[in-house]
This record gives sequence, structure tokens and C-alpha cells, in this order.
Amino acid sequence: MWNLENTYANLNSGLYARQAPTAVPEPHWVVTNPALADSLGLDPAALQSEELLAICAGNALPPGSLPLAQAYAGHQFGNFTILGDGRAVLLGEQRTPSGERIDIQLKGSGPTPFSRRGDGRATLSAMLREFIISEALYGLGIATTRSLAVIATGETVYRQQAEPGAIVVRTAASHVRVGTFEYAIRQGGAERVRELADYCIDRHYPECQQADNRYLALLDAVIQRQARLIAQWMQVGFIHGVMNTDNMSLCGESIDFGPCAFMDEYAANTVFSSIDQQGRYAFSNQPAIGQWNLARFAESLLPLLAEEQATAISLAQEALGAYVDYYQQAWLQGMGHKLGLSEATEADRPLIEDWLTLLEQHKADFTNSFRALAGDAASLAELPPQPLFNQPAFSQWQQRWQVRLAEQTLDQAEVTALMQAHNPQVIARNHQVEQALQAARQFGDLQPCEQLLNHLRKPFSSSPGTAKYCLPPKPAERVRETFCGT
Ligand code: AMP
Ligand code: MG
Repeated sequence: MWNLENTYANLNSGLYARQAPTAVPEPHWVVTNPALADSLGLDPAALQSEELLAICAGNALPPGSLPLAQAYAGHQFGNFTILGDGRAVLLGEQRTPSGERIDIQLKGSGPTPFSRRGDGRATLSAMLREFIISEALYGLGIATTRSLAVIATGETVYRQQAEPGAIVVRTAASHVRVGTFEYAIRQGGAERVRELADYCIDRHYPECQQADNRYLALLDAVIQRQARLIAQWMQVGFIHGVMNTDNMSLCGESIDFGPCAFMDEYAANTVFSSIDQQGRYAFSNQPAIGQWNLARFAESLLPLLAEEQATAISLAQEALGAYVDYYQQAWLQGMGHKLGLSEATEADRPLIEDWLTLLEQHKADFTNSFRALAGDAASLAELPPQPLFNQPAFSQWQQRWQVRLAEQTLDQAEVTALMQAHNPQVIARNHQVEQALQAARQFGDLQPCEQLLNHLRKPFSSSPGTAKYCLPPKPAERVRETFCGT
């Protein structure tokens, strides 16, 4: 069942602190993820056992675990800070039946040497939110950390108000972040960065081993994955909310779901996070912030890129310049698929952008409008009508779109299939997430969470009850801000 290794613990001890989780008084299961357990090689039935509960709560260690808190730094809203896992411990890396190496981390597991003023704990709503959002992204086919379980701890944690405490058991291809490199260069210079870069190449980018300049190849590969990831977020209306460099994973998974949200009405400048007063992490800024963060990564790698600093800088700049092309290409292809185009080209950009402009002008629901174009009127019949579709401007756009569709070789059925495979019906709508969290927090009622999760796990298809999860918020239900609520 457990098959833990501890390769991170073999790295220089400056990169982490040995730290066991702190026991909690009365753990119990809140939500579990049997499918994920299965893919990890853990027995899904164990997600009801006292033995696994004790491990997930931090009251016992699994065999082979060498628990540690990782050190890292980060640019938070543009300002550099030394951080580290202040309330998380890595239990180890599970070797899965398919040969993957997956980090098992407890988040909310108590203080660590990196906790600064924090209590090391987490609230039930924040950990449930992480569980829900990560399952939603996973269901949409977007790379993400995942959640094996949320455990209530039996403790009260104090935030704006007293809240039940919880732990999320998070899995990730690894927890190395851009901020880990920023930390390494300051803590141990070029030697430490080399060690970390070699580790990441072995673990995540083995194809870079053959390159003439393996660190430049690593930089380029990380840039490619991030460009693709952020393009995918933009295609489902996902706003991460806190794209600090410590929340950007080296392996290209979405990570750290605080005040993140999916957009209902399309508005490019949408910001949800209550702590993002300047709109730094607004929806439309995400691609540029991605590049800014990658520039911080490139800076940390400079001593490895070339002996001469000037050469290293020019190599880094060139690599960073390619980000825009990777991003634009991924965005164009993805948006093309959403509009039924098998191969979108630069010439299609105005068609796509004009559609987005129409959505914005008519305050149309992002997800439902795309899905309506994909032509399944049946599941949309129960939704409020969208004024957009009665506009002459829409008819004009639709004609251009039809002309473009007719230019390709796909027939109508193939276009519909392509569109339905790339336009979800169900996203984790903020008002529904909040309602589910509230039921859990106030009444201990997990049913709304479970039901929501069931639909988020198959977002492209209808099943009984799907229509409810396609409903945009009524004005009174609208959630305008999400709080970090850690
Ligand atoms: P986040 O905003 O969750 O990405 O966290 C940023 C940093 O603050 C990380 O180093 C966290 O470990 C730390 N942190 C957040 N909440 C707490 C807490 N309750 N106790 C200790 N550290 C925390
Ligand atoms: Mg973080």
C-alpha cells in the first residue's frame, strides 16, 4: 500500500527542515477521493479506516516517511519574501503502480520553523475549497495538484471568526516552486541552484538531460508548460487569484487555491481576491504575470546558463521572449477548439477576439455562451435567456463564424463533437462553491459538496441534475470577493 521514497530529503539540508506533523485531538473524515487513492496504489477502502485517518491527520506517520517542511522564497504581489512551508509537511513521495513519483503533503498540519506568526493550521472551508477547485481543474483536464482527503481536526482555528480546523492531504508531481529556486540561489548560490535544477530535470524534465545546455533546456521547458497551463486557465475562465512566485509550480501544475474562482459573466478585468486591491492578478493579467514570474525563475538560473553573465542574460531573455509565442499558440489552438476549429491560425484571432468582445459587451456568461454555440440546447433550456443571442451584432459574428467553419474539412457532427469536448457545461461556480462550503461549515452537511463534486468530475457531459450546476448566480447570490481565509 504505502511505497514512500524521500528523494527530497537527500538534497542539501538547507532546502528544508525536518518537521513532523503536530497531532490533532479528534480527527474525522470530511471528504475523500477514492479514485485518487486507487491511482496512488492506496486501497480506496482504507479511506474509511482509523489507521489511514491517523496518518492523514498527522497523528501517525506512514511507513517510510521522513517528514519535512520545504524552504522557499517568493515574490508576493511583487515583493520578495523568505517563506517556506509554514503549515505543511511533506510526508514523502509515493511510488505509484504506474511508476510515477507523487508528493504526499499534509497542509494545515501544524507549525514549522517557517511559520513566522502563523498558527500552522487551516480552516475547514479553505481546505474544502482547495479540494473542490483542484477536482474541478482535474476534471477539466488541466494539470493540477490534487486532494486525497480533507480531515476535520476537532480544533478551532481563529481567523476573522472562529472556524473548524482541517487538514488537506495534497498530492503533487512535486512541490518545487519558482520560489524554491529564488530561495536556493540566495541560500547556497550557484551550487545549490544546480542541485535543485538537476533534481527537477531528473524528476520532471528528463528530456533536458540530452541537451547541450541542459539548464537552458530546463528554462525553456518550464516556460512551455507554464504558457500552456495559463492558456488553459484562460479558456475556462479560471482566475488563480494569488499568482505569487511561490505559488507557481516548477512542474507546471496549478497549485495553492486560495481566493481563486471561475468567472461567470465574462469581464477581462475580473478580480475576485479580497487581498488583490490593485488587480495585479486580474483575469486578463494572468498571461503577463506568468512571464514576470518566469523571469524570476530565469534570474535564479543565470549562473548555470553561461559562464559570462552577459551571455547568460541574453540566453534568458531569448527564452523568456518565446513565452509569448508558446502562450499565443496554445491560446489560439484552445480557443479554436472551443469554436469548432480544428486548426486555428493567426488569421482567426479577430474572430475569436470579437466573440469575446461580444460576451463582455452583453455581460454574457462565459461558460454557457460557449456551450450554447456548441449547440446542445437541451441542457441549456432551463437556463435564463442570454440577451447576447438576440443581438444583430451576434448574427453578424455568427455568419463570419459559419463561413470560417465551412472552410475546414470537418462536417457538422465533427464540429459539434470538438466543441462539446472543449466547452464544459459545469465549472466550479463561486456561488455554488460558497453554498456548499457554508452547508459544511454551519451544519456539517457534506451532501452539497459531494453533489457538486460529482458534476465537476465529468464537466463535459450531462447527467441528471446537471442543469442546476449550469445556473449563473442570481444577483443576490453573486460572490464578488473571495477571501484568502487561510
Ligand atoms: P499561501 O498564501 O497559502 O500561499 O501561503 C503563503 C505563506 O504563508 C506560506 O509560507 C504558508 O506556509 C504561510 N502561511 C499561510 N497561512 C499560514 C498559517 N496559518 N500558519 C503558518 N503559516 C501560514
Ligand atoms: Mg502558497
